Amino acid sequence: MKIIVSKIPDEGVEIHSIETSRSLGITPSDLILDGDVHIDAMVSRQGRVFFVDAALRTALHINCSRCAGEFSYAVDTQFHCQEEPVKKTDLELDVPLQKGDMDIDKYAGDEVELNNLFREQVILAMPMHPLCKTDCLGLCPKCGQNLNIKKCDCREEEVNNPFSVIKKLFE
Ligand SMILES: [Zn+2]
Ligand SMILES: [Zn+2]
Repeated sequence: MKIIVSKIPDEGVEIHSIETSRSLGITPSDLILDGDVHIDAMVSRQGRVFFVDAALRTALHINCSRCAGEFSYAVDTQFHCQEEPVKKTDLELDVPLQKGDMDIDKYAGDEVELNNLFREQVILAMPMHPLCKTDCLGLCPKCGQNLNIKKCDCREEEVNNPFSVIKKLFE
C-alpha cells in the first residue's frame, strides 16, 4: 500500500488492509505465513515527517526450537514508527519530534510504500526461541526421539546403570 506523504490530511488517515506474503514481499527464506496479515494503522503527519501507529495480526508457520516440530505462532503486535525525509529543509533540521519508544526511519520522495514497513515488522515478530508449547519436552539428546510424542528408554537406562553395577558386585 502506497501513501503520498504530502497528501496525508491534518487529521491523519486510517488504513485497514489485509496483506499476504506476496504483497509484502516476504519470501520463504524470510519466513512462512500461516495466514493473511491484518493491518490497522493510523498515519499522521507533522510537516514532512509522518508517523505510523499500527496493529498487525497474523500467524507464522515456524519450527519449535526444542523439538523442531512445526506449529502456528500467532502474532498480535503494535508498533509506532516515525518516518523522516532523507533531505530535510533548513526549517526542519532541529525539530525534536521523537517520542519515547518510536522507531525512526528515513524515506525518500513523496510516495512511500508502507508494505516495506509492514514486511519489516512481520519479520521482527519472529521469536528468537519459539516453543510449540511452554512445556515442550524437546528431543532426547541421545536417540533424538520427540519426547512429546513418545518416551524413549534412554533416561531409564541411565538411572538403572549404577544399580546394575552394584548388582554385578554382589553376584
Ligand atoms: Zn516443541
Ligand atoms: Zn532417547
